[in-house]
Order: sequence, then structure tokens, then C-alpha cells
Amino acid sequence: MASILLIEDDQRIRQALAKRLAERGHDVESTATAMDGVQRAVSGTVDVVVLDLGLPDVDGADALQMIRAVSEVPVIVATARDDQDEIVRIFDAGADDYVIKPYSTDHLEARIRALMRRAVAVESGSEITIGELAIDPDAHEATLAGSMLDLSAKEFELLAYLAERPGKMIGKRELLAAVWRQPYGGADKTVDVHLSWLRKKLGETAAEPRYIHTKRGVGVKLVDPAS
Ligand code: CA
Repeated sequence: MASILLIEDDQRIRQALAKRLAERGHDVESTATAMDGVQRAVSGTVDVVVLDLGLPDVDGADALQMIRAVSEVPVIVATARDDQDEIVRIFDAGADDYVIKPYSTDHLEARIRALMRRAVAVESGSEITIGELAIDPDAHEATLAGSMLDLSAKEFELLAYLAERPGKMIGKRELLAAVWRQPYGGADKTVDVHLSWLRKKLGETAAEPRYIHTKRGVGVKLVDPAS
């Protein structure tokens, strides 16, 4: 269950969506204007915001920037335009995800769940241990056989994301979305380059992998080399 704020000026869509989400056990509040929406979004009581781009008082992208100026609350943008420029504009403005209108409640709910999982993954404080690798999400630190690894922020996030899913093959697209927040794709060289840096710091190579195993065209997984 999530506390959801709907900012949508179309009364029919707003009421129908609020009703369906509430029926599924979510705590829903809604508003028709950007200015009221921004105030509520930054109140600290909302888990996720669903923001319509076409609002009567303020452009949705501007409203999003107002929210981002003071809050990291996850925002899913609803847009009627399904084109690459529009999607890029949405992410540049600080959106976490987007849905194309018309969208189903099922689809929106799945996007909300994915965002909530991400938020939980970042917040969870329990240390992860895989073989001699230990990862402390709170401290943003990782050690290998007791020695501190000197990782960049992205290297750490990549390692932590893989370590939270040990043995599971993860696609580059998922990594781009989760670590680089680029669900619309991007250069998957980004992932390759960071994986090679991470490997180097773990003292292994692609030819002789220990923790990090990649499968061309499929993805990458983190495993305990002793298992
Ligand atoms: Ca609208």
C-alpha cells in the first residue's frame, strides 16, 4: 500500500483513478491544479506523486521542477505524447518514471510498486554479505576480505543493486533504470564501463570472473565465488 497523490485536471480520469487505487488499498489524495499539487507533494506525507503534464495553471514540467527544488519524493509523470523528445524532457525535469495516456490502473500500479521497491532498497540498512564481500547500504561502504573498497557512488550503487539480488541475471536495461535512472534506455556502454571498473577493484577480470559474471546479450549477476 502506498500513499499516492494524483495531480490531474481531468475530473473524470482523476475520480476514476482515485477510486480504483483506493479500492486496491492505497491511500489516495487528489487535486486538479499544479499549485495545490506542488504544495501537497512536498508536504512529506506522500510516498509517490502521479503528475499530469497538461495542467491548466502551470506546465507539468515546471511543476515538477518546483517539487524537485525542495523534495526527492518519487514522481511518475503522465503524458499524452509518446515521443522520445518528450520523454527526455520529462526525465530532465526530474521525473522518476512516466506513463503514456491512456494507461490502465494495473500499469500505473506496477510502476508505483517498482518505485516503492527502489525506495525501500535504498533505505534498507541491513548489511549484505556475499562470500568475502560485505556491503553496508547505510554507510555506502563495501569491503572485500576486510579491506575497504574505494568505489565511486555509481560503482557502489551498481554493486549494491547486484548484491541485493545474488545469483540473479540482471539485464543492462534494468541496471540503467535502477542505478542511472534512465528507464528510456541510453548507452549501455555506461554499464559495461562501470562493470569493468568494479571488476578491477574486486581484483578480477572478465576472462577470469569471481564475483561478477556477465552473459553477452543477457546481463550480469553477482555470485559467491565459493558456491
Ligand atoms: Ca490534463
